[in-house]
Amino acid sequence: MRPKKSCGNTTSTTSSPAILPVFIPHLGCPHACIFCNQHHIASQPAPPSPARVAQMLEDYLSACRLPGRPVEVAFYGGSFTALPPAMQRAYLQAVAPLRERGRVTALRVSTRPDAVTRQGLELLRGYGVTTVELGLQSMDDGVLARAGRGCTASRAWEAARLVRETGLRLGVQLMAGLPGDSRETCRRSARAAVAMGADLARLYPLLVVRDTPLGRLWEQGRYQPLSLQQAVEVTADMFEILEAGGVRVIRCGLQATPGLEGRSLLAGPFHPAFGEMVHAEVFMRQARWALRASQWQGPLQLRVPPRELSRAVGLKGANRAALGALLGHPVEVVGDPGLRAGSLALAVPGEAGPRVQVSREDYYQTAAVAADGGNG
Ligand code: SF4
Repeated sequence: MRPKKSCGNTTSTTSSPAILPVFIPHLGCPHACIFCNQHHIASQPAPPSPARVAQMLEDYLSACRLPGRPVEVAFYGGSFTALPPAMQRAYLQAVAPLRERGRVTALRVSTRPDAVTRQGLELLRGYGVTTVELGLQSMDDGVLARAGRGCTASRAWEAARLVRETGLRLGVQLMAGLPGDSRETCRRSARAAVAMGADLARLYPLLVVRDTPLGRLWEQGRYQPLSLQQAVEVTADMFEILEAGGVRVIRCGLQATPGLEGRSLLAGPFHPAFGEMVHAEVFMRQARWALRASQWQGPLQLRVPPRELSRAVGLKGANRAALGALLGHPVEVVGDPGLRAGSLALAVPGEAGPRVQVSREDYYQTAAVAADGGNG
């Protein structure tokens, strides 16, 4: 974690927890997944010591008051439960004074499915960990083997079951665009995450990072990453399946770091606004479906919750332009404070009330998104 003067590293609503990430790059991980170089991704050469973690968190929390907001410390970037138990305790203990003072409400860790045991999970729970994020990446054994994950889908099912039986919240991390992946394998992985009872998910299109086996495959012309458009579409498929299945997707795409925006990234669908692009794609699918289902003709005023206006309009107005081209009539997009999150309404410009209103749930159920996996 890099303390900042502003609290820009946390999520923006007052009800959701502020996540303070602590990166422990590659620490504890005995594997070498073909895509991974945690040092480049995190732009951080070595893991901080437990004492340094304690100091960073103290500094950050005294700079950012975050009144009334729950604060969660998240150990990311490694395989936390693969660390020697004494080291796990030392990191968790570093957060204990802040928990005792009520400044930190919970902890979460990320790890590999094959590093999960019941005993290890009990240790985490004893130190206030409430969420374990499993790096599944895929639930296809062929894709996992080609990625050098050293772990199978059945081990992931087992780990998920243990997390849930221990009473911890289950997070999953999935990738798109791994060697051997297809749109369908990605959809199947998302469906598996729903079936295993995940509470939250992160979705990452695969990037080619310098000094990795994948980087060498790419240099030899033996791996082709997804284009940005392909990555947005397949991630939107996965997002829809997960959200329709009750799994909260808390991130799409890697956060921009100096490394990723600099020389660490060799190729792949990186965009600092990737998450917004996925949300805009899902919105576009919902709007197209609403227009088709209502057989809308003529000029359109599209109403959306004000907070979702920029997603509805799309990057550089792409959604508005595409809907206008589809209808052959002007499309105006406006905020309507009366609409629930994820809803949209179709109105004739100049009329007071909308003629059609579609919630995200209506769209998912009627378009059979969970079963078919994406409506794009
Ligand atoms: S398990 Fe995680 S930390 Fe280890 S090599 Fe694979 S991606 Fe990197």
